[in-house]
Amino acid sequence: MDFEVSEKMQPIIEMMDEFVEKELIPLEPEFLKRSFADMTPELEEKRRIVRQMELWAPQHPPEYGGMGLDLMEFALVSEALGRSPLGHYVFGAQAPDAGNIEILHLYGTDEQKKTYLRPLVAGEIRSCFSMTEVDMPGSNPVMLETTAVREGNEYVINGQKWYTTSADGANFAIVMAVTNPEAPRYLQASMLIVPADTPGFNLVRNISVMGHEGSGWASHAEILYQSCRIPQENLLGPEGHGFVIAQERLGPGRIHHCMRWIGICNRAFALMCSRAQKRIISPGKMLAGKQIIQSWIAECAADIQAARLMVLHAAWKMQNLGVKEAREEISLIKFFVANILQKVVDRALQVHGGLGMTDDTILAFFYRQERAARIYDGVDEVHKISVARRILREFEGKRVR
Ligand SMILES: Cc1cc2nc3c(=O)[nH]c(=O)nc-3n(C[C@H](O)[C@H](O)[C@H](O)COP(=O)(O)OP(=O)(O)OC[C@H]3O[C@@H](n4cnc5c(N)ncnc54)[C@H](O)[C@@H]3O)c2cc1C
Repeated sequence: MDFEVSEKMQPIIEMMDEFVEKELIPLEPEFLKRSFADMTPELEEKRRIVRQMELWAPQHPPEYGGMGLDLMEFALVSEALGRSPLGHYVFGAQAPDAGNIEILHLYGTDEQKKTYLRPLVAGEIRSCFSMTEVDMPGSNPVMLETTAVREGNEYVINGQKWYTTSADGANFAIVMAVTNPEAPRYLQASMLIVPADTPGFNLVRNISVMGHEGSGWASHAEILYQSCRIPQENLLGPEGHGFVIAQERLGPGRIHHCMRWIGICNRAFALMCSRAQKRIISPGKMLAGKQIIQSWIAECAADIQAARLMVLHAAWKMQNLGVKEAREEISLIKFFVANILQKVVDRALQVHGGLGMTDDTILAFFYRQERAARIYDGVDEVHKISVARRILREFEGKRVR
């Protein structure tokens, strides 16, 4: 594995770093005060500049207007953009659209690509992914109550979903629903494209999460699908293959998230070091002179580096050997990096004392927003169990001395 950033990527990362520093970080105080919907004109203006700089949609194919970066290249981009909560959105690389774009590429029909994929990559519309249900365990997603029943040339969808991120203002949802209840568990559900203006697509509310309802892209909705009829052509991929497709969506998505978290760690770490250098703690003595702070700084530096190398290795394995071969590494990084993120942000906040709790720095936002990292895309416990089971299988009947 080559650790050098390629000649192609060096200037791209530098331009992105500079844009985040000069254009996005100064917008954050407003972002923390105003609703996302309210900020749309400013964010659209930044998006316009990004398109002009030819840095738009870094991981999507050039024929759709993206930069066509591969997984390893995008990992570095995700780290750079992750430093600001606005980075991915302004560069057209945000979840949940990024994952939906990937599966539309892989499984979309020509018509679906024309209607949904093109405008989505272009940033003209937004989308959401509607799988988790209120009354069923998201950590065991094969247990779904939402159904999509065939009636003539249509599917009729009924069910209650929540945590459908970015549903507010989305043009369509990709909905996971049971189409084949008699099939084996993993082949019961399908993915269906549901335009948000379909009668029966009822956005009940934006859920208040950690004290914030959010709006637009920065929100999580509860949605009631009530006799929601969509044409058969809106089936995405083969019927009954919903979970197979979901696995494809989650693999690269976890690399994107983990590298974004490393970007957050880098930002929190820089804030922590800078504050320690500046804060007088007793006459003539700085916080940075205290051994406990130095120990935190050294530990965080090691943690971030370990996490970053693990993610890059998982990305390299996925890119070169495929998602299946990298399954264990993906599970390892998902829980490991989420916990490093928590630790680094928490330490940075602590070093800032009362200031850390305010919205005068970005740390409190990261602290409340990113707690979810240990929950979405697979809860810590499930990833740990699956890694441990695989490791233990290797020791079955093996004599170890
Ligand atoms: C901010 C955020 C954004 C999200 N965005 C989306 C989205 O866009 N679309 C979508 O469909 N969903 C989304 N989700 C939902 C997310 O995928 C689920 O919350 C997650 O899968 C966990 O499911 P659950 O909440 O039902 O928890 P449960 O399944 O009820 O689990 C609760 C807890 O039980 C424990 N647990 C579960 N299983 C085991 C086990 N096997 N062994 C030991 N302990 C276990 C874990 O500690 C877990 O946290 C989002 C969630 C959050 C917080």
